Formats: sequence, C-alpha cells, structure tokens
Amino acid sequence: MGNGHPMRDRFAAGTQYIGGRLRSGTSGRTQDVVNPATGETVHTYELASAADVDAAVAAAREALPGWAGATPGERSDALHRFAGVLADRAADLAHTESVQCGKPIKLTTEFDVPGTVDNTAFFAGAARHLQGQSAGEYSGDHTSYVRREPIGTVGSIAPWNYPLQMAAWKILPAIAAGNTIVLKPAEITPLTSLMFAEAAAAAAVPDGVVNIVNGAGRDAGEHLVGHPDVAMTSFTGSTAVGKRVAEIATASVKRLHLELGGKAPFVVFDDADVEAAAHGAVAGSLINSGQDCTAATRAYVQRPLYDAFVAAVADLMAMVRLGDPLDPATDLGPLVSHLQRDRVAGFVDRARAYATVVTGGEAPQGELKRGAYYRPTLITGAAQDSEIVQSEVFGPVLVVLPFDTDDEGIALANDTPYGLAASAWSRDVYRAGRATREIKAGCVWVNDHIPIISEMPHGGYKASGFGKDMSAYSFEEYTQVKHVMYDNTAVARKDWHRTIFGDRP
Ligand code: NAD
Repeated sequence: MGNGHPMRDRFAAGTQYIGGRLRSGTSGRTQDVVNPATGETVHTYELASAADVDAAVAAAREALPGWAGATPGERSDALHRFAGVLADRAADLAHTESVQCGKPIKLTTEFDVPGTVDNTAFFAGAARHLQGQSAGEYSGDHTSYVRREPIGTVGSIAPWNYPLQMAAWKILPAIAAGNTIVLKPAEITPLTSLMFAEAAAAAAVPDGVVNIVNGAGRDAGEHLVGHPDVAMTSFTGSTAVGKRVAEIATASVKRLHLELGGKAPFVVFDDADVEAAAHGAVAGSLINSGQDCTAATRAYVQRPLYDAFVAAVADLMAMVRLGDPLDPATDLGPLVSHLQRDRVAGFVDRARAYATVVTGGEAPQGELKRGAYYRPTLITGAAQDSEIVQSEVFGPVLVVLPFDTDDEGIALANDTPYGLAASAWSRDVYRAGRATREIKAGCVWVNDHIPIISEMPHGGYKASGFGKDMSAYSFEEYTQVKHVMYDNTAVARKDWHRTIFGDRP
C-alpha cells in the first residue's frame, strides 16, 4: 500500500499474523481502521476468511507439541524476554493504541502498556508455579497424583475497548500453561494485537504459538469457535455475543471461558468521605471514556450524602479536559467510534424522558466536532428499573440514585443481571465488610474503584460470565487436570475384585 498514514506502511505486509509472519486476509472484504479523534482512516485491511482461520489453527496445532513439551523454565525464559521486548517498544505500542482507540496517551502510557508488560512478567514467573494437590496414598493401596496439562489450541475472541491488554489477558495464561493460541481481536482495533504477536516473535517465542486473525465476528469468529481442532474458546465481549459463542462452543463440547458485560454499582454509605467518593466516581466512570466493563455506572448514595455527592461529581466532571488523545494534557478522548458515540447518545436521549441530565449529555462542538467525543454525563432521577440503570451504556455516563437503609443499598447494587465489579465506600469496617460479602460480583473494591493487578483474578458472576483472567486462577481455565493412579500392591487378585469374582478361588 505505502500511501498516506504511517500505519498503512507499518502493516503493509498484511493484518493477519499466522505461523510467525504477517500476511493479508483472503476474504475479499475490507475493513477500515479509523482514528476516532479525527475520523481519518489510518489503515484499510482485508478481513480474515474461514481459510485464514484454518491456516492459523493449523499453525497453532503444528507448534503445539514443541511448546507443550518445553519445560516450564523454557516457557518462563521466553516470557521474560517477551516482557523485555514489550517494555522496549512501549512508546510505539502506546501511540498505536491511542490512534486506533482514541485513548488519551496518558492512559496508554501509564496504564495499558505498563499493565501489559507487568502481566507478561507475572506469567513468566507463574509459568513455573502451576499448583496441584500433593501426591499421596489416598486409597491405601495406590499412589495418586495430578498432572496439570495444557488443553491444546485455544481460540480466543477479544473486544475493542482495551485491545492490547485483552490480547495479553487472553494469550499469556494460555501460552504460559503450554497451549498455543489463535486470537481474533475486534475488527475495528486490529493493530496492537499484531504488535503484541510480533514482540513475542522477537523474544523467540516459537512461530505458531501465537497467531492473530483479524476477521469479522460472524464469520471468522464463529468459524474459530466451532473449529474442530480448537480445544477451548475464551471470549471477552458483550453478553449478547457471549451467548451465541456459548451455543457454538457447547455444540462441539469445548472448554469455555466467558468474560462478559458489566454494570458496576458504586455504593456510598453515609459515613463515607464524600470528597473521596466523588473523585472515585468521576475517575471510575470516565476511565477509557467509560468503555470499561468494570467502570462505575450506577452510584447509590445514602440520603444524607446524596446532594453533596451529586454537586461534587458535577463540579469534577466539568473540570475534565476533552482533547486530542496524543496531547499529554488530555484527560478524556473520544469514544472508540462514531457508532459507539451515537449508541451512548441514544441511551442518554431516551433517558431524558424519565430522568434529569445534570451535566453533559451532548457532543462537544468546535474543533472536537469531527471526533467521536461525548461530554462526561451525570444523570439523576432515574428509576431502578429504567434502561439507563439496567443496561450497559459503555460510555462516559454515570447515574446517581439515593438509598435509605444499608439493606436497600446492597439490594439495589445486586439488582441487575450483571456481576463483574462493584465498590463500597465507608469508613466503618463492618459496613464495608458486609458489602464485600453480600454484593454479587467478581471484584469488590472498598474506598476505590478500578485498580487491577496481575496477581489477582478478574472475572464475572451472573450474566457477566464465568472463569478468570489474570492471576494464577486463570490456569484453572487454560489447563486440565489428570488423575494418575498407581497400584502399590503388585497382587493379581486385589481386594476390590471381590465385587466381580465373589468368593471364587
Ligand atoms: P462484542 O461482543 O460486540 O464483540 C466482541 C468480539 O466478539 C469482537 O471481536 C467481535 O468481532 C466478536 N464477535 C461478534 N459477533 C460474533 C459472533 N457471532 N461469533 C464470534 N465472535 C463474534 O463486544 P465489543 O463491543 O467489542 O466490546 C464491548 C463489550 O465487551 C462490553 O459488553 C464489555 O462489557 C465487554 N467487555 C468485558 C470485559 C470483561 O472482562 N468482562 C472486558 C472488556 C470488555
């Protein structure tokens, strides 16, 4: 191609990464990659066909015996080198992620990329620490032990909100445990997953261990999920698509890991530090323009603090600087696409009929007009069963509702189909402790909202899915355990044979 934006030259060899090299898709259909801050097309690529998925799965299958047969120490060494290459390429990764997603460079530089490097370093260490039950003579006459084995070739599907981190979360535990993988990123954000795979190759992770197919969900995605040579499906995305993926994976009896949508509650009890809670709610709802499955979306505030909290949040939201994602002073970039911005605006516009838009609720004018921007938005007066409270908006929108008793606050927090993340704000350790026990979510923060760490699991309850990303818990998804049992008696007629041979000599 070689014309126009530097991204075109960067990925001129193609946007599929199969068996250790970039190549073009063969579906005959193209996809634009658009910088949502400007509306400019930065790259156009040919989507993967079913044949491209087959080629990627074949490459992953070919690499499997060698990689699964490597020692944990050898895999760990490769992942340590991988972390080093990613760290060396941090600026390029951060820039590309900001361009394809519209994320502020501050966020990609301080969060997306270092988080990915840290995750890689974590799995380099964890690769040598696969845990299991100790061997023992549980029957008395046998020695039993557990082998923890890779599952085979994993097919993973990722969303567009954190393309680099999602690639890391899907690929690292899978390959640390000795599997090989084919990852399908979201169509609109294909670039940093490719760079992640290239970094693996530069670290001498063998060709075929990591493959990336950039294709459409309905054809390449479904083909990958149903592929007979793929042993496991790991999906992160919306609950609606997750249900479809589950149907296909179940039909071929595959191991399944689903990380789905969220609608995180943010519960402020009346003894909380209201200033801390307001700061936490603004940062927690606006991070990544609210396109975060754990973002604070529903703040429930106990009546005595309600007015002060709403006023503080409105003031803080007004201070957030929208702007060019590549400007280090920018706090909030655009949404990932104009389509997503219009979806978010649709939720807010429908809410006007039954709730109050306190601040925001509009796209900025002036020089930001051509980008997919939307102002930080605060909504009050919505009923618990309304769309804006129940549905995943995935934009910079926070709804605040009052509550009276602690029982009510916790009940409201649990009153959506989702259960990914939540936070409780209180200076009373017993109240906060109760909230951590009774809120049904895969993560509950106390007096904070958003931070994640490589050592701890991330995953949902309820309609937010099942299975864990990150941490040693993710190995439960990406390994299978085999019970091996040795007879220790060396006798021909064992005791338990009485069930068949009775008292015959
Ligand atoms: P999405 O469900 O629309 O798409 C996710 C991926 O699925 C994309 O790669 C897409 O191409 C693919 N896909 C679409 N249809 C498919 C099909 N029929 N078969 C197979 N694959 C298909 O989600 P999105 O809009 O990209 O991302 C936003 C969603 O992701 C939100 O719901 C968010 O909460 C969720 N998410 C969850 C987590 C988590 O950890 N739980 C993390 C990030 C994002």
